[in-house]
Parts: sequence; C-alpha cells; structure tokens
Amino acid sequence: MKKQRICIVGDGLSGLMTAIALNKLKGLEVHLISKKNKHSNDKRTTAISASNYEFFKNVIDKLDKKLFWPTKKIDLFYETKDQNINFLNFNEDSKNLMYVFENNKIKEILIKEIKKKKLKTFKKNINELKDLNGYDIKILCLGRSSKIYQGIADKRSLNKDYKEIAITGYVKHDLKNLNTAQYFFKEGPLAILPFSKNNFSFVWSVKKEFLKKDINSSVKSKICKVLKTNKIQISNLQSYPLKLNLKRTYYKNDTLILGEGLHTVHPVAGQGFNLVLRDINKLQKIFKYYTELGMSLKSTSALEEFTNNRKSENIITGIGIDLTHNFFKQNKLLDPFKEIILKNISKNNTLKKISKYISNQGLSI
Ligand SMILES: Cc1cc2nc3c(=O)[nH]c(=O)nc-3n(C[C@H](O)[C@H](O)[C@H](O)COP(=O)(O)OP(=O)(O)OC[C@H]3O[C@@H](n4cnc5c(N)ncnc54)[C@H](O)[C@@H]3O)c2cc1C
Repeated sequence: MKKQRICIVGDGLSGLMTAIALNKLKGLEVHLISKKNKHSNDKRTTAISASNYEFFKNVIDKLDKKLFWPTKKIDLFYETKDQNINFLNFNEDSKNLMYVFENNKIKEILIKEIKKKKLKTFKKNINELKDLNGYDIKILCLGRSSKIYQGIADKRSLNKDYKEIAITGYVKHDLKNLNTAQYFFKEGPLAILPFSKNNFSFVWSVKKEFLKKDINSSVKSKICKVLKTNKIQISNLQSYPLKLNLKRTYYKNDTLILGEGLHTVHPVAGQGFNLVLRDINKLQKIFKYYTELGMSLKSTSALEEFTNNRKSENIITGIGIDLTHNFFKQNKLLDPFKEIILKNISKNNTLKKISKYISNQGLSI
C-alpha cells in the first residue's frame, strides 16, 4: 500500500517531537516544514513529569540521559508578612518526580534524530492551508497564535490576557543540594529549577509594569534574598507575555492543531509541554491503531477520537492552573485565610498524593 503522507508544520518542541513520534509508525511518510531564515533563541528550561520522560525515551533512540536533570524533592513556599512558609513538600526516596532540560539542547537532539531517521524536511513559509495541498493529514504546530488557525478553530476558545510577563533566566551558584522550589511571592510566583549541579533556571511571573524596572537588579536582589547568598551569576534573561488560550475545536477535515496552539497555559505549574507530550502520545497510539489495520487516516475518525480523548483533560488542567494562579494572587481580604488553608494543606497526605499523581500522569486516570 502507498504510504500516507503527513506534514507537520513548525519546528518548536511540539513540531519536532510530533514528527519523530509519528515517523516511527509504519505506513506513514512524515514531512517537517519549518520557516525560512529562522533564528531560534529559546533560553528556557522545561520541567517534564516522570511519565513524559518515559515517553521521550520511547520516542528518541539512545536518548542522552545526562541532558535531563532529575528531581526527587520539590518545595512550595508562600510569602507572608514576616516569613516564607514551606506549606508543601514532595519528597521521593527512590523515584524521580520530574526532569528538567534546556530547551535549546533538546531541540538540537531532536533535529539530529530527524536527520538520522532521514525524515524529509522543508524550509518554507506557510501562509495558508492551500500551501499544504497534497498531504493526507496536516498537523499545525505553529505556536500559541497563528492566523492560519482561524480557518480551523472557531472563535469559542477560552481566552485571557494575564497582563503579566514571565521573566526567565539562568543562575550559576555554588550552593550544595539546592532543591526544586516554587515561591509564591507578592509580586508573583517564582520557580527555581536546577538543571545541573551548579546551575538552575528560574521563571518569575510578574505584572507587565515590572518591565519598567531594572530587571537585572530586581531579579538578582530577589534571588539573593531567597538563597541567602550574593554569590550568584545571572545570564540569559528573557521575558514572555502570559496568556490563557484553550481551544474547543481541535481539527477541521484533515487538519489538526497541536502544541501551544491548542492550549497556552500560565507557566506557574510547568504543565504546558507536559500536556503537549500527552497529546502526542495519544495521537501516536490512535494513528498506530488505524495504520496497522491498513486504513487511510483521512477516512477514519482518528482526529475526532483524538479530540474527544484529550480535550477535557487539556481544558480542566488549563482552568485548574488558572484557578491556582488566582488563588495565590495578592488579595487583601483573602490573604489572612490563605495562610490557614495552606497550613492545613501541608498536613493532608491524601491531597499531596493526588496532586503528585495528577502532575505525573495527567487526568486521564
Ligand atoms: C516562561 C515559560 C516557561 C515554561 N515552562 C514550562 C515547563 O517547565 N514545563 C512545561 O511542560 N511547559 C512549559 N512551558 C510551555 C512550553 O514552553 C511550550 O509548551 C513548548 O515550548 C511547546 O511550544 P510549541 O512548539 O507548541 O510552540 P513554539 O515553541 O512557539 O513553536 C512554534 C513553531 O512554529 C513555527 N512557525 C510559526 N508560524 C509558522 C509558519 N507560518 N510556517 C512555518 N513555521 C511556522 C515557529 O517558527 C516555531 O518554530 C513554558 C512556557 C513559558 C512561556
């Protein structure tokens, strides 16, 4: 039987990973289309759950495990008038809770894998769906917003502008045993994500007005205060505007949206790419089922099945993250009660177990 032609458009983490995962299926010819003259400058890290790390290992042959920094301990702190309360600890002796990687290094690995597997790649600027004629299935991984999505998704998606930015950067330090941590500060949540013995990255979500300040010195003084040391070096400062976008329509005819375009969520819980990886995992399984039966994907309900399977988890997680973000936002009336609620949470082992399970496996239990 003639191979079915699939094109993946966009070479961010979602597009690269989707191309490699689908290329593993017999009966598919996968093409990756990326923009011409593009300069990638992603100086972030990404935290993925243990189950998504397993998926990575299944998709990439001989994955270099050194590029994934494991974490067994995560501490959550809430800032009160006079101290940072450590209200929740996730602690494992044997298993790893999550893994942190540097985006640019993993993109390099994915591109190498694409070359090794001789996957066809094209440099082309796609402006409309017509540019993709000739493919059986088209998968758009064009990032959080693209005018090309307009022809596929209706206007009923859930949208919110947080009017915030995430400041990200790398920090070199000489502290021993620095744990992964999230601090809920008055200015906004700050995540500390170690990715090697003496380096961590941070994500600090703050109001847009923060950009008017001297970001370098504001970030440095905050981090020095948290770590109780002045001996740090900050590099790779970047900022990202923060939005919520949860699509309700995932596909039209033979064209599917995937990645940030389906769900853009607040980075407070580090869940965005975790959701994408679960989407890709599911899509691979559905396509495998139909291709092994020798069926033409475009004449099956594969894209509808994918949507029905993933949409509720993506929307519930996105809304859950939004509620978490709202809960921790400064609020003069609620703040005194938050302290009491958080102190009780720290005593509740069942809640701890549930949140650990969900952040690893997602909601499709
Ligand atoms: C500050 C921050 C921290 C985060 N931290 C985490 C974390 O710890 N854990 C986690 O799970 N997630 C995290 N995320 C989410 C994660 O970064 C994204 O889910 C992930 O990068 C996937 O992005 P993407 O590939 O879908 O989109 P993008 O990275 O935006 O890629 C889109 C690609 O499409 C290409 N493109 C666009 N238009 C066209 C066109 N017309 N033709 C051809 N190509 C085109 C672009 O060039 C680009 O390469 C974070 C997000 C932010 C903002």
